Amino acid sequence: MINLGILFDIKLCRGVQLCIVRVSKGSERPIKNVQTKSFSSSVEQLKLGKLPRRPAKPNREEKPREPTPSSPPPPYLSVVVISERKNRNVPSEAPSQCMKSITTATGECRSATGGGDVDVDVIIVGAGVAGSALAHTLGKDGRRVHVIERDLTEPDRIVGELLQPGGYLKLIELGMEDCVQEIDAQQVFGYALFKDGKNTRLSYPLEKFHSDVSGRSFHNGRFIQRMREKAASLPNVRMEQGTVTSLLEENGTIKGVHYKTKDGQEFAAYAPLTIVCDGCFSNLRRSLCNPKVDVPSCFVGLILENCELPYANHGHVILGDPSPILFYPISSTEIRCLVDVPGQKVPSISNGEMAKYLKTVVAPQVPPELYDAFIAAVNKGNLRTMPNRSMPAAPYPTPGALLMGDAFNMRHPLTGGGMTVALSDIVVLRNLLRPLRDLHDASTLCKYLESFYTLRKPVASTINTLAGALYKVFSASPDQARSEMRQACFDYLSLGGVFSEGPISLLSGLNPRPLSLVLHFFAVAIYGVGRLLIPFPSPNRVWIGARLISGASAIIFPIIKAEGVRQMFFPATVPAYYRTPPSKQE
Ligand SMILES: Cc1cc2nc3c(=O)[nH]c(=O)nc-3n(C[C@H](O)[C@H](O)[C@H](O)COP(=O)(O)OP(=O)(O)OC[C@H]3O[C@@H](n4cnc5c(N)ncnc54)[C@H](O)[C@@H]3O)c2cc1C
Repeated sequence: MINLGILFDIKLCRGVQLCIVRVSKGSERPIKNVQTKSFSSSVEQLKLGKLPRRPAKPNREEKPREPTPSSPPPPYLSVVVISERKNRNVPSEAPSQCMKSITTATGECRSATGGGDVDVDVIIVGAGVAGSALAHTLGKDGRRVHVIERDLTEPDRIVGELLQPGGYLKLIELGMEDCVQEIDAQQVFGYALFKDGKNTRLSYPLEKFHSDVSGRSFHNGRFIQRMREKAASLPNVRMEQGTVTSLLEENGTIKGVHYKTKDGQEFAAYAPLTIVCDGCFSNLRRSLCNPKVDVPSCFVGLILENCELPYANHGHVILGDPSPILFYPISSTEIRCLVDVPGQKVPSISNGEMAKYLKTVVAPQVPPELYDAFIAAVNKGNLRTMPNRSMPAAPYPTPGALLMGDAFNMRHPLTGGGMTVALSDIVVLRNLLRPLRDLHDASTLCKYLESFYTLRKPVASTINTLAGALYKVFSASPDQARSEMRQACFDYLSLGGVFSEGPISLLSGLNPRPLSLVLHFFAVAIYGVGRLLIPFPSPNRVWIGARLISGASAIIFPIIKAEGVRQMFFPATVPAYYRTPPSKQE
C-alpha cells in the first residue's frame, strides 16, 4: 500500500526524489538498492513506529529514550533515495514544502540520505572496534544512529586481538560481553616475560573479580563482526556500507558527511553529531585534531599452529634484540606472533628478505617450545605487517563532531591497550550524553563535551604512557645505562608481590592510575641504580646510575608532557571537568 500523503510531501522537496512504500513486517522488498551492501538487509528500514519521535520543543532533561523491543512491531516504512540534490547552492524549498521531520532550523530542506534516514541523532564513521561498540551503546540509549562503514565484510587483520581485563570490564559495562562468545576467544590470565633464557610470570590481579573476568584474545575480525551484528540488531541503528569522503561543514559546525557507495553513488548524510571512528589511518581527523603521528616501529604478524605456549592462556613477551617479540593465543589452535621491527621500513616480504630476517635474527630468540612452529609459519609465508603508530590526543573541539578510537588517540600496541582505551572512552562519552535528549545545539554541546577530554585522561593517559615507556625500556640498546634499565625492569617485575602486581594492574587496565605508573617507573630506575652501587659504588657505576636516571626521565617525561600533565595528574583542576549537561546550566 503506498502512503500517498508522505510521497506527496517529499516530491515537493526540490532535487530529492524519495520513494516511500509502506509494507507490513516481513514483506519489505527493495525498490532500488542504493547501497552496495547492508549489514543485515539490502533495504533500509525505518521502523518509525518503534523510534521515538523528536518533540516539537525539545526537552533536554527527559530521560534517555529506550527502544521498546517488546512492543508490537509496527508497519515498516522503507525509504530509498533515488536521486539527491547534488548542488548545495540550490536555494532551499520553503519549510512548509518539506517533510517536517527533515526541515532544519534554517528552513533548509534536508534530504533523507543514501539509505533513507529522515531523522538521525548521530552519524558514526567506521564500524571497527570503536564505531560498532559506540553504535550499540548510543542505540541502546535510544539514539537514532547511522553507521557508515567502508567494508562490512569480516576484517582479516593483525590488530586488536588481545583485550585486556580492564577492557573486558568496559565491555561488560556496555552490555557487550557476549561479543567475545562463540568466536573461540581464549581467556588470558596474565603475561610471561622472557629474557636471556630466564622467564617470569606476571598474573593479572583478578582475585577480586568474578571468575569470568580476565583478558580475552581472539581473531579481531570475528570480534568486530559480533559487535557489528549486535549494534545492527537494534531497531534504531542503521549500518550501511559506504566510504565517507568528507565532513560537511557549515560556519565551523559539522553537519554530517559526504559518502560514496561501492557503485560510486555519492550521498550526503546529516545529523547533529558526527563521531569519526575511522581508525589509525584516518583521513578525516585532520580538521578535528592536531595529528602528531609517530611510527617508532612495525609489527610483523604470523600465525603459529600445532604448538603449545610455555604458559597456557598467557601473553608472552620476549625481551628480544633489537626489540620485543609477542606471542598470544587467538583461538584454541592458533598462536599469534608479532615481531617488532624498529623503524618505519621493514625487510621486503616479496624478495624473501623478511623470511631471512625472521629465521636468522628472530628465530634464535624464540622459546624452544615454539621454535618449530615459528619456522613452519615463516615457511608457510602468510606474513603481514602493520605500522605501530602513536599519537597523543590533541583535539580541536569542533561543534557537531567528535573523534573516537584510533582516529583520536593511539599508543604503541606492545601492551595491547588500544581497545581498552576505546571502550573506556565510550563509557565516558555515553555517561556524558545520557542526560541529553537533544543534540542539536552544537556549540553548547561542544563546550559541554570538552569535559570528555579531561574525564578520559586518567585511564587513557596511563595506558598510553605505559605503552610508550615500556616499548623503550624493553627494546635493546647499545647504551649501557639503557641495558641496565631493561635488566632492572625484568628483575623488578620478577620480584613478585607489589612489584609485579602494581605494573600489571596498570597494563591490564584494572587499576589505571597515573601516579602509580610514575612511582613504579622510577622505582625500577632506583632499583637499577641501587644494584649498580651496591656493594661497591665505583665512579664508573655512579656515572652509569646517573645516566640511567636521566635516561628514564628522558623516556617518561616527554610522553607525560604530550599527554598533558594537568589533565593526567590533576584533572579536577581543569575547569572543563565540572561541566554539567547544558539543560542543567540554564
Ligand atoms: C599491530 C597492532 C596490534 C594491535 N594489537 C592490539 C591488541 O592486541 N589489543 C588492543 O587492545 N589493541 C591493539 N591494537 C590497537 C587496536 O587495534 C586499535 O586501538 C583499535 O582497533 C581501534 O579501533 P578503531 O575502531 O578506532 O579502529 P579500527 O578497528 O581500525 O576501525 C576503523 C574502521 O573504520 C573504517 N573506515 C576507515 N575509513 C573509513 C571511511 N572513510 N569511511 C567509512 N569507514 C571507514 C574501517 O574500515 C574500519 O572498519 C593494535 C594495533 C596495531 C597496529
